[in-house]
Amino acid sequence: MFKKILIANRGEIALRIQRACRELGIKSVVVYSEADRDAKYVKLADEAVCIGPAASALSYLNMPAIISTAEVTDAEAIHPGYGFLSENADFAERVERSGFTFIGPTPECIRQMGDKVSAKQAMIKSGVPCVPGGEGALGEDPREIIRTARAIGYPVIIKAAGGGGGRGMRVVHTEAALLNAVQMTRTEAGAAFGNPSVYMEKFLQNPRHIEIQVLADQHRNAVWLGDRDCSMQRRHQKIIEEAPAPGIPRRVIERIGERCAAACKKIGYRGAGTFEFLYENGEFFFIEMNTRIQVEHPVTELVTGIDIVQMQIKVAAMEKLPFTQRQIECRGHSIECRINAEDPYKFTPSPGRITTWHPPGGPGVRVDSHVYTNYFVPPNYDSMIGKIIVHGDTRDQALARMRIALSETVIEGISTNIPLHRELMVDAKFVEGGTSIHYLEGWMSEHKR
Ligand code: ADP
Repeated sequence: MFKKILIANRGEIALRIQRACRELGIKSVVVYSEADRDAKYVKLADEAVCIGPAASALSYLNMPAIISTAEVTDAEAIHPGYGFLSENADFAERVERSGFTFIGPTPECIRQMGDKVSAKQAMIKSGVPCVPGGEGALGEDPREIIRTARAIGYPVIIKAAGGGGGRGMRVVHTEAALLNAVQMTRTEAGAAFGNPSVYMEKFLQNPRHIEIQVLADQHRNAVWLGDRDCSMQRRHQKIIEEAPAPGIPRRVIERIGERCAAACKKIGYRGAGTFEFLYENGEFFFIEMNTRIQVEHPVTELVTGIDIVQMQIKVAAMEKLPFTQRQIECRGHSIECRINAEDPYKFTPSPGRITTWHPPGGPGVRVDSHVYTNYFVPPNYDSMIGKIIVHGDTRDQALARMRIALSETVIEGISTNIPLHRELMVDAKFVEGGTSIHYLEGWMSEHKR
């Protein structure tokens, strides 16, 4: 096992990784920007090194600074967390070339899954169902593009191969708008992702977002750890996640889970990963694979009892998965609310000093957060300041526990989205379960927010 790991991230996930290291008896080094000096994980760190100013490009995305910190602190491995450099194949390559272990899949795998066209092709080969659409990237010939759209049937969606974070997509309803939309997406994709390649698929009208968590070691073992429903989204950003997805028969989930585990073996995957699907009319359609730990991993941890971050570290250290698929059991129900420093209805960021921080507690309640009373939320990064996660024997119990947890939470000095979560936890449709990815936007306009 490693003696020391460098954590190349910030926020709640940096603390989460630090805790996993401690439990495994591993020392950790945190790197931080000037804006994060006072974060909890920096104060609690075995070793902490400031690697640059607040701007991410000069700190959390600064590969030479991170790698040289690993060198001077004698770390053996680097955990990239999520966001920042976690899905950057060049970073993974540089980490390994410098003699460190990258806690994640191989650079080749990250690269293959990072390009949505090659990811989709790999999935088709592995027997994972994909959204109907063209096989590869769109060519230049306008007649061919029109033919492809007719074959798929309108509406279609044009997506950037290198897209991410909900950007680089355009829905097209009519042939008249098609060529212009393709051209615009190409131009934007070239500018935003440095890759003008785009592809086309069927636009699904009312799907749910269902994903499968996987875990693979370096001895050809791969398992899936159940499913999550992350349909409660705004502008493609998830705000509530739960496990398992309500109302989907377990045998349907099992069938797709088995396919995902088999695909991991086929593509030589290692570490934790997520297969994201749109789910409509009882069918799954692959949209992308995330080759890293995800924000919503705790809901899976609470239903399976498996510490996914510790597993990432263990398999990176060449250990075998300590369980087989048959030994994995999902028990009860878990829900996560992402707590963001933002206006609950307008969603404008609300950085600043937290004057009061009272997190909730009680049976089945977990809070992952790096903030505390008197902490200053910097304006430079993502607005998420923590997550409240609950577990119950049933979905009803989990909902009740989340309502109590939200009612106990007191955060003052900044605005947060807790009022929105409180309303959603008693919303009849959400309580019933199975709402689509468009539900929240509809709810917002209905409630005239
Ligand atoms: P990103 O990497 O930017 O997150 P994804 O491919 O995961 O991109 O898609 C993000 C979101 O866009 C999905 O969760 C869904 O809401 C929407 N979306 C993507 N593809 C389709 C599709 N074919 N039909 C309907 N919605 C889609």
